[in-house]
Amino acid sequence: MCTEPEVEAVPLVGTTHSTSDDLPMSKYWHNLCKTTHQNCGIAVDSTFKPTRLVDLTLPKPVLRTSLGADADCKFATLSHCWGATQYAVLTKDMLSSYLCQIPEAAISKTFKEAMVVAKYLGFRYIWIDSLCIIQDSKDDWRHESALMSKVYGNSSFNISAAGAEDASIGCFLPRARNWLDSRKISTSSECIKLQYMCLDYGFEHKRLDDMPLMQRGSALQERILASRILHFAESQLFWECKELHACEEAPSGYDFRGRKTKLDLDDATSETQKGWQELVSGYSACELTDSKDKLVAISGLAQAVQNELLGSYIAGLWRNDMESQLGWYRFGSLEHRPVEYRAPTWSLASVDGEIDLRYSSARELSLIRVHDVVVQGVTDGDVYGQVLSGTLSLSCELLLPVDIIRPEHKYRPHSCVTRMDGKDFASLLYPDSIEDDIRKGSHAIRVYLIPQEMSAQL
Ligand SMILES: [Zn+2]
Repeated sequence: MCTEPEVEAVPLVGTTHSTSDDLPMSKYWHNLCKTTHQNCGIAVDSTFKPTRLVDLTLPKPVLRTSLGADADCKFATLSHCWGATQYAVLTKDMLSSYLCQIPEAAISKTFKEAMVVAKYLGFRYIWIDSLCIIQDSKDDWRHESALMSKVYGNSSFNISAAGAEDASIGCFLPRARNWLDSRKISTSSECIKLQYMCLDYGFEHKRLDDMPLMQRGSALQERILASRILHFAESQLFWECKELHACEEAPSGYDFRGRKTKLDLDDATSETQKGWQELVSGYSACELTDSKDKLVAISGLAQAVQNELLGSYIAGLWRNDMESQLGWYRFGSLEHRPVEYRAPTWSLASVDGEIDLRYSSARELSLIRVHDVVVQGVTDGDVYGQVLSGTLSLSCELLLPVDIIRPEHKYRPHSCVTRMDGKDFASLLYPDSIEDDIRKGSHAIRVYLIPQEMSAQL
């Protein structure tokens, strides 16, 4: 005989009203990952050591530069929003003083609390961008930016200040209650007792992906590259590694299949292409601290995913199957093309805003062929960084003269009427920028279309 099901709210692991009380849970996840997850914690390059790290062993944090002697310098990293509050940063003049002691003025509330977490989990070192990169040195910034994928990819543990839009807010956030929205349902009969957890539909999206840090472009890159992450969200802690996604609502884990928050870097299959297109699309929807750094911000990911199947990297695209990637397009409201040169117009890094990048499923139907691509980078030898110029030559099977007549409907922003061989067609047009939008003039405008591939139905 069964009892009536009991439904109760899920209490928080911590008993008071701050996420700092739940650090023992983070220690549990971290130990579980270290001792039982075979796919986690594998360094991208075990010989790599960051140029500088913050040493947490002394009462006051100190910057270290000569880490070669410390063979086992496992380190944590921090993902955070800088925000509007100004803090002191590492500069050329201050380097020697940081090596004696990092000044209080450079340690925001977020940094302080991240250091507490790192020490609590047994880390001697932590890497924080504004303390480890010389901010007034272009050379150092370029050099360190190029190493970003290695820093996060080799980090043993990444602390994500997910709920803080400013460095003054911190990791540990106050919360108004000690229970969560999910419900625990228990039933029992004479011989069996069952317990179910009912999670709110899309709860991870609402409680983590909507957090301020997740809107930042480079945070997405850091999230994907780091092998283990502890997110300090507004209401609770989230754990993310290759084998476990868990949070205080679901401490034993929840189903995260289908979410691309980790890349399998050894995966030289079409999954890598799919992963790259998802990443670029997701990344383009994020805010950029400085949009001119677009290529730099995704350079870490590009270096991490690079493999034989993708080919060489060319200003945000991959050489293999470049013909289909050239079909990327902007959607959503249009913006002006950046004033400062960033990339050639055929590169998806040349514009701001959301981008859809798709690989073709039928390459044999392609009607274009890329023959030669030349890109000149700002730094010699760094194909992943900023570019100065680029040219591309291709041949096509068809070149169609078409007249753009007018927008078809004012409420359908991409629709327009085109005329070809005297016949009018309802068409969709996706300009890259406001400057490229040719639908608004009173006269027909002649353009030449290059069909990208044949329809599979032909
Ligand atoms: Zn793990």
